[in-house]
Amino acid sequence: MIIVMQSKAVEGQIDAVVHRIEDLGLKPHISRGEFRTIIGAIGDESLLRPESFAGMAGVESVMPIMKPYKLASRDFHAEDTVLKIGKFRIGGENLGIVAGPCSIESLDQLRQTAVAVRAAGAAFLRGGAYKPRTSPYSFQGLGEEGLKMLRDVGGELGMATITEVLDVRDMATVAAYADVLQVGARNMQNFRLLADLGRLAKPIFLKRSPSATTEELLMSAEYILSEGNHNVILCERGVVGFDKSTRYTLDLAAVPNLQSVSHLPVAVDPSHATGRRDLVTPMALAAVAAGAHCVMVEVHPDPERALSDAPQQLTFDAFKRLMDELRPIADAVGRKLQTP
Ligand code: PEP
Ligand code: MN
Repeated sequence: MIIVMQSKAVEGQIDAVVHRIEDLGLKPHISRGEFRTIIGAIGDESLLRPESFAGMAGVESVMPIMKPYKLASRDFHAEDTVLKIGKFRIGGENLGIVAGPCSIESLDQLRQTAVAVRAAGAAFLRGGAYKPRTSPYSFQGLGEEGLKMLRDVGGELGMATITEVLDVRDMATVAAYADVLQVGARNMQNFRLLADLGRLAKPIFLKRSPSATTEELLMSAEYILSEGNHNVILCERGVVGFDKSTRYTLDLAAVPNLQSVSHLPVAVDPSHATGRRDLVTPMALAAVAAGAHCVMVEVHPDPERALSDAPQQLTFDAFKRLMDELRPIADAVGRKLQTP
């Protein structure tokens, strides 16, 4: 249920509503908009009687939220959420480009890539240190050693960093080094991990599972939000399809679809979605045209020799061309590209 306060409501009236929600054993969430404050009562709605709130001083209206996700919905928070990550922004009119290797393989590989993607215009540096691999015999990532490289290179170049947290056990370590924590597609419904991430003060980049609906993605975001962390980016990275000529099927309609029901920024990852170098640039451009707030692209100094995801990583030259083609599209759709 959400309680919409009158635009002239004072702090004492807001506090009174918050206390009544707490007394009923529910969790209040306050969203202060430009014109009015909205208070969400999260928990078992059967404990609430809308009439008991409607009569309180300063309350304008009381509405049940019909959707199963509450805090992620636009009913609770009408304006787009804009995340501030270091000196950069993602969400609203802001567009952030994340680029870097699939896996961090060495300091030299990461630094070379970071220098190239930064020069091309990416403000965010990615690189996996804990890798979710289908085979236990494949390269698993450099772990904490890789995280240190990411922190050092990001710091040197003034880029914000993002890397995947694979398990609750690594969460504190990853959070100590990276600016944004990525939840991989395979972990989208690892609810214990999501709840723990909800208690961190770090932005979370939440990837859609290839077999999840957009509603399930929003329910996963809700796990993070409901613990108090409101800094979540949703990422479409391809869903299971029947056409085996691409790795997955990029659901681009998910961008405006998610944006219509949620205030959270929406990202697209065309690298994992297509699994094919030749398709990454057109789909990155299409993502921006569709209104994405963020695009994540894998880039490697020598893609053929990459230790993971070799077929989909872009060369430095190809990434530069992508960025040159992307700028006019961002302008055309009114997105402000965050520059390093
Ligand atoms: C990744 O971004 O490195 C990754 C493993 O992606 P996904 O979880 O989408 O497969
Ligand atoms: Mn990858």
